[in-house]
Amino acid sequence: MHAIILSVGDELVLGQTVDTNSAWLSQQLAAVGCDTFAHITVGDDQQMIQRAIARSAWRCDVLLVTGGIGPTEDDLTRQALAAVMGVELELNQQWLAELDQFFKNRGRVMPERNRIQAMIPRGAKLIFNTAGTAAGIEALLSLPQEGGRESCRVFIMPGVPKEMKIMFERDVLPFIKQSGGGACILSKTLHTFGLGESAVAEKLGDLMKRDRNPLVGTTVAGGIVSLRVNSRFSSREQTQSELDRAVKSCYDVLGDLIYGENDRSLAEVINEWLKLKNETVTIAESCTGGLLAKMLTDVPGSSDIFQTGFVTYSNDAKYNRLGVSTEMINIYGAVSEPVVEAMSKNALRLAKADYALAVSGVAGPGGGSATKPVGMACIALAWKDGVTLRTFNFPGDREMVRDRAAKMALSMLRYHLLKKPMPF
Ligand code: ATP
Ligand code: MG
Repeated sequence: MHAIILSVGDELVLGQTVDTNSAWLSQQLAAVGCDTFAHITVGDDQQMIQRAIARSAWRCDVLLVTGGIGPTEDDLTRQALAAVMGVELELNQQWLAELDQFFKNRGRVMPERNRIQAMIPRGAKLIFNTAGTAAGIEALLSLPQEGGRESCRVFIMPGVPKEMKIMFERDVLPFIKQSGGGACILSKTLHTFGLGESAVAEKLGDLMKRDRNPLVGTTVAGGIVSLRVNSRFSSREQTQSELDRAVKSCYDVLGDLIYGENDRSLAEVINEWLKLKNETVTIAESCTGGLLAKMLTDVPGSSDIFQTGFVTYSNDAKYNRLGVSTEMINIYGAVSEPVVEAMSKNALRLAKADYALAVSGVAGPGGGSATKPVGMACIALAWKDGVTLRTFNFPGDREMVRDRAAKMALSMLRYHLLKKPMPF
């Protein structure tokens, strides 16, 4: 079964409201094996809505429309549907009585313009709204077109997300399930950091072939390359077992490159590890200006693993707070491995932590040179028996460089905890 989702509202096309309805509906449909072909968004314009309905209907089995069934002049979805069906709107006495009652219960008389909310195209079915005044509409559209489907079931639901969700679950979902969405779709997301998307894809090789089921795809956000594994079979058991198998294959290929699944962040992984080991980390940050501390403490309960840190942005601060000698800074520069080494060792001692991460880099846009270009960052990890030093060149603007440097520092600690060399 295939669906198209049409969202109606000027606020959506103007970008004032983010269309969360379509995302939520797609997720619900996927969960019962109904594929979504497209998301379409149009403003409160009857011609546009009409055209969108007519063009979508012969491409899908079910068309889900949200928005534009309020009582005001700009609510035109019902009129558009009636026009596509080639019928008039007619009054639904039962819903008119409900509306009357709705207002009476609030000690008010129903405004005349709410009457339109009891009008539905002739031949369509009204869907009760238990949470508001906008009733939904269900209609079977017959639009024979060459190469198209014979008919399409259209559901019109309120734009208000809460009302839409109630109506979808109660009145639309049963239809979809019964019409043999049939298949079950389950997904898992695996996150990696450190290698680029194409390098990850290369390692995955055939696992990413587009005709596979489960299907493995990659997305990138904030330097994190994530694999989305979608499994789709007729029974839940098979969907789950095939998903597990495909996920295992991804782990077999990528191993420790995968740091977490679904909503996990790198900092959560570090928090969990250190909690398990009953150890703590401190930070000494220059170019990241506290970002590393923020990431670590974004995780609830992080006081178990993080007590204090040092944001030492200027050379004076590096000396005054961490005791990094001015001479050393003058010889090597603030962005150098000897300086981050000293920052990390001194922070470790001062904070009495088990690990210390220190970062110093050229975040840009200015301040770069031929030997120390924008994006260069030195990172040190110190622990009681030693220190690891690395220099990286991160691409991108100031925000990106700082973000990647902080994530790379967390990765250095992660690989140290894994007792594995970093593979990048
Ligand atoms: P209804 O059909 O329920 O009367 P409407 O389009 O007539 O909806 P509006 O007043 O335009 O009602 O929208 C109601 C609220 O729902 C607004 O806050 C609007 O931004 C929000 N909304 C509408 N469509 C969406 C959507 N696709 N995703 C998220 N929010 C939405
Ligand atoms: Mg609207």
